[in-house]
Amino acid sequence: MANINENYLSLKQSYLFSEIAKRVSTFTVANPDKKIIRLGIGDVTKPLPNCVITAMHKATDEMANEKTFKGYGPEQGYDFLKETISEHYKEKNVNLDLDEIFVSDGAKSDTGNIGDIFDKDNIVLVTDPVYPVYIDTNMMAGRQIKLLDCNEQNGFTPAPPNFKGDIIYLCSPNNPTGSVMTKPQLQEWVDYANKNGSVILFDAAYEAFISDENLPKSIYEIEGAKNCAIEFCSFSKTAGFTGTRCAYTIVPKTLMRKTKLGENISLNSLWNRRQATKFNGVPYIVQRGATAVYSQQGKKETKEIIAYYMQNAKIISDTLKSLGITYFGGVNAPYIWLKCPQGFSSWGFFDYLLNNIYVVGTPGSGFGKNGEGYFRLTAFGSRENTIEATKRIAKLLGK
Ligand code: PLP
Repeated sequence: MANINENYLSLKQSYLFSEIAKRVSTFTVANPDKKIIRLGIGDVTKPLPNCVITAMHKATDEMANEKTFKGYGPEQGYDFLKETISEHYKEKNVNLDLDEIFVSDGAKSDTGNIGDIFDKDNIVLVTDPVYPVYIDTNMMAGRQIKLLDCNEQNGFTPAPPNFKGDIIYLCSPNNPTGSVMTKPQLQEWVDYANKNGSVILFDAAYEAFISDENLPKSIYEIEGAKNCAIEFCSFSKTAGFTGTRCAYTIVPKTLMRKTKLGENISLNSLWNRRQATKFNGVPYIVQRGATAVYSQQGKKETKEIIAYYMQNAKIISDTLKSLGITYFGGVNAPYIWLKCPQGFSSWGFFDYLLNNIYVVGTPGSGFGKNGEGYFRLTAFGSRENTIEATKRIAKLLGK
């Protein structure tokens, strides 16, 4: 008889976004005439940039022609895309070999699947609040997880603890708090990891939202990071690929860790083996589209889209400021993390906004215990909806 992986039974049953969907649907059934505005889930609303569409159309035509048709591609991604990714890193003064870049279908799958190359007995350090995928995937694997408190006192950015952790997830710009790590803060973590032989899993899915040139967009801008860090990045939020699916993971060839018997092994070769065995690559058409993102025209178009979202962030932040509501993020990050006013709990505030002004956000408690009393709004809505939502918020919460 096959037994199940009982670790799955320890996962929280009601996933945050299904509970939100349930409450919104109950409200809609009772109030069919009310126009709901969603500033909750972090999905984008702007379509793919024109140059991406053009590249994908051209690639589609290639697939229709026997001479240019492509079957299975390299599991790690086509060189034409990896070359543009490596050029993108050169702009951050980071040099990468093409075989250090692994193209994939998402930072979500990669941040979860990376656990395959690590021992089950590693201790995992995760910030609280956090993007839930890091916790759930490690719970599925049965690993011990230690939480690092992120709160107002530490600016929602934890310093390395005085105990050892083996695998450390860091996300900057952060989902959900919108905090961004500085170079000195990241250097502390890199030093901690190199000293303890830990590995940092650095989620840079929102790097494109950083406009402050002093802030690191890649962990490899930090000295020593190529000896201790794996970086995840994605075209999802940078260029509207949430439904198209393309991302990449960097595993430096200098990153080595030991077996229990002390033999040094390259994590790059392990990840390559894992991907070649369990993954068959991102569609050719999608990789052609992703390549266009880092072209001159692509950079121009994505910059405009990001500026549009960041203007939404400003509209939300300005409203909160005028209402005297404490908030974090919204600069160099598309998330605004606000402190629920009037002593509301996270879910209490969710219900208050939904029932009174039909605006949907995300309760902070869904991201961890330190999220209780906080609420996440996103800048990914349309301008019209963002303005309308902030007007309703100002009317409800203004004196
Ligand atoms: N990492 C973080 C921190 C995210 O917030 C998200 C999506 O919301 C992802 C990864 C998922 O990225 P992808 O669409 O590439 O799977």
